[in-house]
Amino acid sequence: MATPKDMMTTWDKIQPGAVLPSFEDPEHKVRSKFNSFNYKVADWRVEKPVFNRDLCIDCDFCWVSCPDSCFIVEEVENKRGKKQAKIVGINYNLCKGCGVCVDVCPTPIKSLLMFPEFMDNEEALKQWPTKDDKK
Ligand code: SF4
Ligand code: SF4
Repeated sequence: MATPKDMMTTWDKIQPGAVLPSFEDPEHKVRSKFNSFNYKVADWRVEKPVFNRDLCIDCDFCWVSCPDSCFIVEEVENKRGKKQAKIVGINYNLCKGCGVCVDVCPTPIKSLLMFPEFMDNEEALKQWPTKDDKK
């Protein structure tokens, strides 16, 4: 009998009705390379949002709009001693780079901007636009 390994092929050769094996070794539950567990949403991202904490007003628009729940929130105490949610970053394992968060961010200079995937976040923050750039 053909094993899942023998059945491996390329996308252009897949016949209608074919099945991609989930397991290399079903008995021992060893996942095949086609198994979606081996992929992250982020694997197809070419641009990423970078978050600028200094400009953020914690309106949470990005948090409610993100389709993949990427925003990391921490509970902090505000000046009046009340508990408040504060955005502290982005989970890049979940982010697919759709840019919705950047679109909804309302600060005069965006607190989120898209940058190439390969760019270091520190470098992106150095390139952030200023008020003068808007004139
Ligand atoms: S780019 Fe899209 S998926 Fe990524 S954090 Fe923004 S809204 Fe979420
Ligand atoms: S939408 Fe912009 S200002 Fe509002 S919480 Fe997100 S990053 Fe901060």
